[in-house]
Amino acid sequence: MTVGGWRPASVVEAIAATATARILRLRVPEWPGNLAGQHVDVRLTAEDGYQAVRSYSLGSYGSGEIVELAVDEVPDGEVSPYLVRDVLPGDELEVKGPLGGYFVWRPGGEAPVQLIAGGSGIVPLMAMVRAATDAGAAASVRLLYSVRTADDAIYRDELDAVGSDGGVGVTWRYTRSAPAGWTGPVGRLDEESLREAAWDPAREPTVYVCGPTGFVEHVADLLVALGHPPARIRTERFGGA
Ligand SMILES: Cc1cc2nc3c(=O)[nH]c(=O)nc-3n(C[C@H](O)[C@H](O)[C@H](O)COP(=O)(O)OP(=O)(O)OC[C@H]3O[C@@H](n4cnc5c(N)ncnc54)[C@H](O)[C@@H]3O)c2cc1C
Repeated sequence: MTVGGWRPASVVEAIAATATARILRLRVPEWPGNLAGQHVDVRLTAEDGYQAVRSYSLGSYGSGEIVELAVDEVPDGEVSPYLVRDVLPGDELEVKGPLGGYFVWRPGGEAPVQLIAGGSGIVPLMAMVRAATDAGAAASVRLLYSVRTADDAIYRDELDAVGSDGGVGVTWRYTRSAPAGWTGPVGRLDEESLREAAWDPAREPTVYVCGPTGFVEHVADLLVALGHPPARIRTERFGGA
């Protein structure tokens, strides 16, 4: 039953994704399904009645009552450390959604598609990678994923798997340090690296950029400088600097 749009959600799995991030699978009875890229609001209620609400993207798409979130801990945050460290299978939360109708990808939709993620910004883009792979559209999708180090990459193994054999074209960007044997650049994304990794503006890609606010704004500026029309750049800002 939903009250004010809030649906009960029970945690069924909590899986360590990195040292600071967890994938949470929630059972949401009568979940109406969601498009790749949408998010939910999550509401926590303490024993004294205090409530906190934060938005989390869905890494899952489609129908079925199991939905997937992936949460990266923001140091000193109010909600994310609880979701990453404390929540256990069997715990009850509430979710409202699915929310958002703009930062979404539909099978049979625009092509080609350029996805650009920073940190936990991979979550809604992972739903798009999964949806495009399942729809047989992976060859028209490229993903550029910027992480501090290889160990900070959420969904690393799945991305390595989908990226092989003509699947989604995955390019990694390491901002702090790269794995042994890496010959590419290390550091903040720049125009040259973006030009090399992303679809050419002449191909008229739709570009989805997601991550911390500063990352999204930096990448959007680079894209415009490279000639991508702002109307074809879709952004989702997760907050922070
Ligand atoms: C549409 C949407 C989807 C989102 N999806 C995800 C997701 O899939 N996974 C995920 O981990 N997060 C996601 N977020 C971010 C999430 O909603 C919270 O902002 C984040 O978990 C921090 O909450 P908190 O209560 O721990 O921190 P707060 O107590 O709210 O904030 C503590 C401090 O951290 C800063 N801060 C807040 N958010 C961030 C951030 N994202 N990065 C860096 N600093 C921050 C604040 O300015 C403040 O100074 C999403 C945000 C939006 C708007």
